[in-house]
Amino acid sequence: MSEKTIRLIDQRYQALAMPAPDQRLLGSMVKDRLGRSLHDLRVSVTDRCNFRCAYCMPKSVFNRDYDFLPHAALLSFEEIERLARVFLVLGTEKIRITGGEPLLRKHLERLIAMLSRLNTLQGKMPDLTLTTNGALLRKKAKVLRDAGLSRLTVSLDAIDDSIFRRMNDVDFPVADVLDGLQAAKEAGFESIKVNMVVQRGVNDQQILPMLEHFRHSGHILRFIEFMDVGSSNGWSMTSVLPSADIIRMIERQYRIHPLEENYRGEVARRWALDDGSLEIGLIASVSEPFCQDCTRARLSTDGRLYNCLFASEGWDLRGLLRSGASDHDLAASIAALWHQRSDRYSAMRTEATVSLRRRNKIEMSYIGG
Ligand code: SAM
Ligand code: SF4
Ligand code: SF4
Repeated sequence: MSEKTIRLIDQRYQALAMPAPDQRLLGSMVKDRLGRSLHDLRVSVTDRCNFRCAYCMPKSVFNRDYDFLPHAALLSFEEIERLARVFLVLGTEKIRITGGEPLLRKHLERLIAMLSRLNTLQGKMPDLTLTTNGALLRKKAKVLRDAGLSRLTVSLDAIDDSIFRRMNDVDFPVADVLDGLQAAKEAGFESIKVNMVVQRGVNDQQILPMLEHFRHSGHILRFIEFMDVGSSNGWSMTSVLPSADIIRMIERQYRIHPLEENYRGEVARRWALDDGSLEIGLIASVSEPFCQDCTRARLSTDGRLYNCLFASEGWDLRGLLRSGASDHDLAASIAALWHQRSDRYSAMRTEATVSLRRRNKIEMSYIGG
């Protein structure tokens, strides 16, 4: 870590009215064992959802008997803000709000406003973004934008109404998600990302119709490989359609070319239609894992810190917060946890590791997608 960064961190700590931590310790803290920084924080604000996508919250598991977290277990907005401030001191620049369905959390715009007032080490507002299924966007897009949300990702797995209704498994119409996207555009969101999780034999026939639909929309369409998150989505390698196959499928119909990375280690491979009508992203989490560049920490709904989407264990930051830990204590704990991180589950994934770990992986709706 450079002298300049250390000085900046010290200044930040002074601003927070607490002693600057030991420079040597801090210098080694904010990189993990594979040299990855703590650039991104994902915060799950609820473990509940109004959809029941079979690959994430199948009805057979997430039914009336399922024990969702009680309200008192959730981190409050003040607690999330405080933790976010500590992460920013440790070098985080991007915060993604997710869930479950984040727009189900009451008064979410209040949290967005609180986070948008924070600063990164560079003195800038953090890149503040949110992933949603879009069902409540017509109602919420403007208040979220006004509160300071910078960017938006909307999940949509099919453009065909009957396929989409089947996939969300609550009979939710595609027209309402498209209306939500329109509301987001009207509210001033630009380059909205539309995420489609592709499952072979379930919605792969929707790849080209989705692409055709979103041409000239100004949105970025991203195809995500189906992952073996959690323990309940019935994943198998045969249900994954590799990104390379998706590109070949698109090339048979359209003229496309690859785009440069926006920044080093960008997760999505970017492509564009030659006529400029659409940017496409491919997220090959299974066929071409990107663990070596994974700079994401995840904060679960009840305040546990997970260093990997496939972790089976998280660290109880809520307990620390509620037992009176100072910001300095929190920073030291988080940095120490990051320092010992060596996760690279996807890079080591085989059919054997998948079945070995199936029993105790954390569900995505709780840890945040
Ligand atoms: N409910 C919101 C939504 O659907 O956008 C936010 C939470 S959701 C868990 C975040 C993202 O994870 C979504 O884009 C969803 O499609 C993706 N996701 C969930 N389960 C997945 C899986 N098994 N493989 C790949 N992506 C998955
Ligand atoms: Fe809900 Fe999002 Fe999971 Fe679908 S992917 S069940 S919308 S949390
Ligand atoms: Fe990051 Fe874990 Fe996914 Fe690898 S498997 S990219 S370490 S979250």
